[in-house]
Amino acid sequence: MTVLDLARADIRALVPYSSARMEASGGTVLLNANESSRPPNVPGGEGLNRYPDPQPRALVNGLAELYGSDPSRLLVTRGSDEAIDLLVRAFCRAGQDAILISPPTFGMYAVCARIQGAQVLECPLGDAGTLDPARLLAAVTPHTRLVFVCAPNNPTGNRVDIDTLRYLATALADRAVLVVDEAYAEFSGVESAVTLVDEVDNVAVLRTLSKAWSLAGARIGTVIARDEVIDLLRRIIPPYPLPSPCVDAALGALSEEGRRLQRHHLQEILTERARMTVELANLPGVREVLPSHANFLAVRFDDASTTYRRLYAAGIVVRDITKYPGLGDALRITVGTGNENDRVLAVLRAGASA
Ligand SMILES: *Cc1c(COP(=O)(O)O)cnc(C)c1O
Repeated sequence: MTVLDLARADIRALVPYSSARMEASGGTVLLNANESSRPPNVPGGEGLNRYPDPQPRALVNGLAELYGSDPSRLLVTRGSDEAIDLLVRAFCRAGQDAILISPPTFGMYAVCARIQGAQVLECPLGDAGTLDPARLLAAVTPHTRLVFVCAPNNPTGNRVDIDTLRYLATALADRAVLVVDEAYAEFSGVESAVTLVDEVDNVAVLRTLSKAWSLAGARIGTVIARDEVIDLLRRIIPPYPLPSPCVDAALGALSEEGRRLQRHHLQEILTERARMTVELANLPGVREVLPSHANFLAVRFDDASTTYRRLYAAGIVVRDITKYPGLGDALRITVGTGNENDRVLAVLRAGASA
């Protein structure tokens, strides 16, 4: 038995769409894809009349190096949101299969499953957002195909160590794929689950340039898994997922200068996160600041809804996460620049004395 036995048989047998660019590359007179031979008359329009490379080599190789993976084990997607969707579509039969999630967690796992007609099983996290691996495994049913673990978790900010992930992946072998969402890994300093892809065939790791690489607008996500899983996802990804200006932006971010700036920004966020964790905790009206390994803080307030409105009235938008189980008194505040964070603190101090 291999991980492919867990996938949908109809997707394994699917004849994928074959695009013009896939069937023939090279040439100087390109009359095979019904593109315009003339570029659009817009700023930066040069080359935009052509369909983009489906998986540009330079970007695939750059991301493979960044994440410590082999290029053949990596697919670049329109944000990791698309990778989540592709995994659910490839592994879950509508009306039959299920995914398992640990709320409170990122909302897209459940949304993608529902769009696909897959069942959503839940195994809630413990009190401080802690994941109990034995309890999670006990919630796996024979129809569970994907087990999502968000590490660090959004919106609680807690991390999951590599030994726990290895234990889960090993225990799930031949039963389900462990999907480790590492959208916030850069802020946590823990070892990536990418190394597990060498050890077992039922792990998929999601990474993104949206958070720590300042490129949310470019929609560049990555899924890393065994070649056979990546080949399966290639069958169902839309033909030209990566707009060329987005690829150029990503290549710029991965350049030497881009990496230098990224390290600088990352350090700034870590410093500000430490400062905000202490300063928020000392404010009246704040019950608790959950320790965070990401670029946000989940903060419990005596009165979360009044606090939300007060911040909003001052032009500061934070995330109301009171609908999540166990977080009925909490707001999620992204770590901003020093100035932005000072404004948050000023509004909360003024509110406390009002
Ligand atoms: C923001 C976020 C994503 C989405 O990332 P994109 O690459 O922008 O699609 C995925 N997972 C988690 C947990 C997130 O918080």
